[in-house]
Amino acid sequence: MRQRYKLYNITDNVIRVLYPAQCPVCGDKVPYKEGKIHIKCRDELPYINGARCRKCSKEISDRRAEYCYDCQKSRHLYREGVALFGHKGKIKNAIYAVKYDNKREYLDFFADELIKEEREKIGRWNADMLVPVPLYKRKEIKRGFNQADEFAKRIGRRMNIKVESDAIERVRQTTPQKELSDVQRRKNLEKAFKVNKNIVKSKKIIIVDDIYTTGSTIDACSEVLLRGGADAVYFITMSIGNGL
Ligand SMILES: [Zn+2]
Ligand SMILES: [Zn+2]
Repeated sequence: MRQRYKLYNITDNVIRVLYPAQCPVCGDKVPYKEGKIHIKCRDELPYINGARCRKCSKEISDRRAEYCYDCQKSRHLYREGVALFGHKGKIKNAIYAVKYDNKREYLDFFADELIKEEREKIGRWNADMLVPVPLYKRKEIKRGFNQADEFAKRIGRRMNIKVESDAIERVRQTTPQKELSDVQRRKNLEKAFKVNKNIVKSKKIIIVDDIYTTGSTIDACSEVLLRGGADAVYFITMSIGNGL
């Protein structure tokens, strides 16, 4: 496993010399020695540095609290999860650029960063597979890719965990979650997903998505996975909002 990781790193570095990365914060080319982001731009990223919710990893202002307001009042179906950034400022723009401007290379930065920060925690989950939150097929064809799937593949390569893109299928076109309230979000996702039991039975699974807001999407996916016989469900996202 170590060797595979090393080989991956060498290839990655050769590519970086030939094709400098574009900075996910300012969009300009990054000199090879700086990596995938300008050193000065790194300071503008909303890392979560304070106390964090033990369930969803959201930043909480009350250092004595174990859980955020949202996790205190609603019971999530996943065991635990981790997000890399707060969903604000430059990160919002970077994720938007991935989705709507095809800046998939920013996902390399997100994946590197997530592994750097959270390798130990993710390793502890001992997961059998990564399962990206699927897009509705027609939407995926229109966009040309599913950002959650692309992100999962990058994590999978770095952590040596296999990615099962077909474990969950989105069987219904749903209204974009950002336009809805919390209750509407849950309602919107009812029967939206279908699970492939043969893949998930008795497995420990990490769901991968781009943004966590109220957790309703992750919960809806957790529900079908657990109903399909999954052992435990965790999640990884690039960013996390403050709830609604
Ligand atoms: Zn920059
Ligand atoms: Zn929480």
